[in-house]
Amino acid sequence: MNKDLAHLVDEARRTGTIAGLPRQHWIDGRRLPSASGGRMETIDPGTGKAFTSVAAGDASDVDLAIGAARTALSGPWGSMVPAERGRLLARISALIRAHADRLAVAEALHAGKRLVEAQGDVGGAVRAFEYYAGACDKFQGSSIPLGPDYVSYTRHEPIGVVGQIVPWNYPISTLVRGLAPALAAGCTIVAKPADQTPLTALMLGEILAEAGLPSGVFNVVTGTGTEVGAPLVAHPGIDHITFTGSVTTGISVMQNAAPHVTRLALELGGKSPVIVLADADLDIAIEGVLGAIFENAGQICSAGSRLILERRIHAGFVAKLVERTRALRVGHGLRAVDMGPVNSPAQLARIGGFVERARARGAEVLCGGRSAVDPETGLGWFHEPTILDGLTPDDEAVQCEIFGPVLCVQIADTVEHAIALANGTDYALAAGIYTRDLSHAHRIAERLDAGQVYINEFFAGGIETPFGGNRASGFGRAKGLEALASFSKLKCITARL
Ligand code: NAD
Repeated sequence: MNKDLAHLVDEARRTGTIAGLPRQHWIDGRRLPSASGGRMETIDPGTGKAFTSVAAGDASDVDLAIGAARTALSGPWGSMVPAERGRLLARISALIRAHADRLAVAEALHAGKRLVEAQGDVGGAVRAFEYYAGACDKFQGSSIPLGPDYVSYTRHEPIGVVGQIVPWNYPISTLVRGLAPALAAGCTIVAKPADQTPLTALMLGEILAEAGLPSGVFNVVTGTGTEVGAPLVAHPGIDHITFTGSVTTGISVMQNAAPHVTRLALELGGKSPVIVLADADLDIAIEGVLGAIFENAGQICSAGSRLILERRIHAGFVAKLVERTRALRVGHGLRAVDMGPVNSPAQLARIGGFVERARARGAEVLCGGRSAVDPETGLGWFHEPTILDGLTPDDEAVQCEIFGPVLCVQIADTVEHAIALANGTDYALAAGIYTRDLSHAHRIAERLDAGQVYINEFFAGGIETPFGGNRASGFGRAKGLEALASFSKLKCITARL
């Protein structure tokens, strides 16, 4: 750990916070309080204590931000040539790197992340701007062959003002994977971070301005879903909504976007299977399964929350997995731990409810199964890493997104059975396969209903690999060059010569 980072971590551990955190909306290139004067607390899930507060916005703040974003479309930003936009995105990438320590500690505090995970997320933000910096001057149209008497070609035009709604589990990653391609495509943005995790979005506002982004191109309005999210979605000044969050809220977002026929991409929940076949390298598979469910305390849309094992390896694999799981150290993310807290008491109660109901129905709780506190302080909102076995395929623990450190084991008698189990929920976000037979893996991958299939490494990929879901997991693709399509409208121009 470098000296600056060590100093920040020490400050956070001594005082519960770090100095200089942003406290106001970021609108039109400046900090602004809410028109109503409202404030809301930001809480560290690792202690359960409020450590700062931010503006609690409402529809009038949203209106102001959308006005600034619309005006910015026709300002210097609108006439900036793509190569210059690319240089600007590259400067943003470099500045995020320069501010990485502060961003990572703030991210760890409001999201309850382990520092190393927060650092990874900030590193991902650096990489996302670097990737899309290179895309700005390569996002080109095509020419269409209609014969000698016509000229026909397509143009990608910026969609306009993007409204981006972000959840609390990956605040900076989720924001940036919309923001960076939206800027690359020439859009302007009004972002609403989750109520619980407003800080890194606000910090990015200042960093982007420092890099030279014109005022009004990126705006952040903090507040609740009802007071800020809903008016943002319903506003006629928004041209596209990128929503990441739960299925229930996603449905309401679709409904609220409908009256203005506002385009949208929905990245919703998941209940992703990890299939481990008997011929897999079982040591690699165990590492993969542990990371797939216990990283970020299981609060990952694409978490591998269902483990599908071939029957003949079930007993041995589960025994090793339980041994490894019992050894995981739970505690505040700014200490050397293996798993941090869950995001809120409500989330903790929800996870506990799923586990208790499964126990009451006769499920085997192989390890964990209870809420916990940080063993050093006695504070915070933690849940033990938990493995449930003996569940039927239609059990609610198998079917519903628990969004916590709870793994459900399912047994498959054949590969066909494993595929059927894998496809057997309403969700279709991600899926994992562990096997040494790569041709077999590719044939299985083809038959899995999922936006992304990981073979022999769960979460394999990066900003280059498109990401999104099918069915209840939503639609639209983030990341990769595919993301640019969300933020542009295609125009085809055809001339008779
Ligand atoms: P949530 O739906 O409660 O909230 C998400 C965001 O929507 C928050 O910013 C919230 O304030 C806002 N919101 C709430 N009500 C709104 C409304 N009526 N109109 C507009 N915005 C509103 O979800 P959450 O609990 O914050 O996040 C967890 C969920 O997000 C999980 O289901 C998880 O799977 C999903 N998620 C999906 C992805 C993905 O890429 N598919 C990534 C991360 C999280």
